[in-house]
Amino acid sequence: MAARIFKRLSVIFFSLFAFSSLCVCSRLSALTDDTEIRIGLVSLYNEVNSIAINNESVLAGFERNGELVGDILHGSFSVAADFSAYSLTGETASSYAEAAGAAAKTGGIPACVGAGNWTVYSPDVNGSTSSRRVAVIDGGKTIAIFDSASDFPQIANADGEMLRLGERSYRGRVEFGRYAGAALTAVNVVNIDEYLYSSVPSEMPSGWPIEALKAQAVAARSYTRTRRGVHADEGYELCDGVHCQMYLGAGNESESARAAVDATSGVMAYYGGRPINATYFSSSGGVTEDGDKVWGNEIPYLKSVKEVAEKEYKVWTRSFQFYEIERLITESIGKIVNVSIDSNPVSGRARRMTITGETGEKIIEKDAIRSFFTQSADGPLDSLNFSVSPSEAPISIISVGSELTDKNIAEIYITSSNAAAANPGAFNVISVSGSYSMKNTDSVTFIGKGWGHGVGMSQYGAKGMAEEGYSYDQILRHYFTGIEVK
Ligand SMILES: [Zn+2]
Repeated sequence: MAARIFKRLSVIFFSLFAFSSLCVCSRLSALTDDTEIRIGLVSLYNEVNSIAINNESVLAGFERNGELVGDILHGSFSVAADFSAYSLTGETASSYAEAAGAAAKTGGIPACVGAGNWTVYSPDVNGSTSSRRVAVIDGGKTIAIFDSASDFPQIANADGEMLRLGERSYRGRVEFGRYAGAALTAVNVVNIDEYLYSSVPSEMPSGWPIEALKAQAVAARSYTRTRRGVHADEGYELCDGVHCQMYLGAGNESESARAAVDATSGVMAYYGGRPINATYFSSSGGVTEDGDKVWGNEIPYLKSVKEVAEKEYKVWTRSFQFYEIERLITESIGKIVNVSIDSNPVSGRARRMTITGETGEKIIEKDAIRSFFTQSADGPLDSLNFSVSPSEAPISIISVGSELTDKNIAEIYITSSNAAAANPGAFNVISVSGSYSMKNTDSVTFIGKGWGHGVGMSQYGAKGMAEEGYSYDQILRHYFTGIEVK
């Protein structure tokens, strides 16, 4: 929201200085219109030199009160940050066609300097440059320049088509901004429900039961509402990657997701009268976790709950030799001798990992336990719902009678366990080449269930509940404690 407010405020201040206070009132009315959201299309168009638009014709101009005020530009073309110098002719025109006619006579370029305000710029090496100009380029030639101190240009479909940028298509409008003053970033300004048509299928399979999809749509709508502003300094509200919520454009929509979004249009989950940060994840493996046990801050509606119908969940096992864990630590704690886990007694989920070395100790808490293993061969842990199983750890030799090789290891017999307090976990073996003392405590194995951070709604749990006849609001009220769905 903040990016939009900032943009609006700059319009307001511009209006204050340039026009009468009546303009301020009309701008303020737009502040209450938050059915649209600005999505930074940064996965493909973040600070790029040029962006290709593949429509036959688009409406191009500047937005005023949620409407695009502009002219139709025909043909597929590209937009680019304009670094050229121009002198201003002072010519005025009320349309692109009029400005293009005047420009043709003088060798200038039509320039839109505000909604419906056109002039002609003359290329001039002694003229001025601007870090806000955006050029429209067709066949290698600049056919128009958009240059406003208060806005960046936008395009909208002129004939009911989707806007086609490269391989992806978008509803609504697309803005091309030089937010950092240099290259271009594309921002899709789109109705929130139309955004959800595409983002819901990225987060949950479209073939799942409709009540689960509706729960996902309401969770995503509420989450979207509370997340607005995380990218306020970058010219948009949410990004189109997993950082915010995956958004691949209109090509990713599905009929069932559209039905789920339309059936719940305007519905959100609230706590204390405010939309909630409705977090979700794939599966819990039986029980979800309190928000503060994972992220640190206490949120009243993010409480551990038991699953009622999560029939499918991920089961996983990860084993780590202590030397592998040593490589993940930057501190010097000496050779690792033990790894232990403390769990939340209510949820059974890990909340603290203590790595004990010969000269020190490292403690890792909450969701950082999962991400601690990011640099390991198989990446972060899938969930915090796991137990420790030293018995499954690989065996290593601590003292060797004679050299043990893969040639003579074929026949090996455990002859005794060695329960001496000084050497817990050790045992003796005999093989064709001699006898050995071995130990299995220099590695640790985690046996886990579930996938994801475990806070809020389990998507597989929602699927199971929907299959058992629960409605979307019952699903949401199960996973988010004390909320209202309206
Ligand atoms: Zn983001």
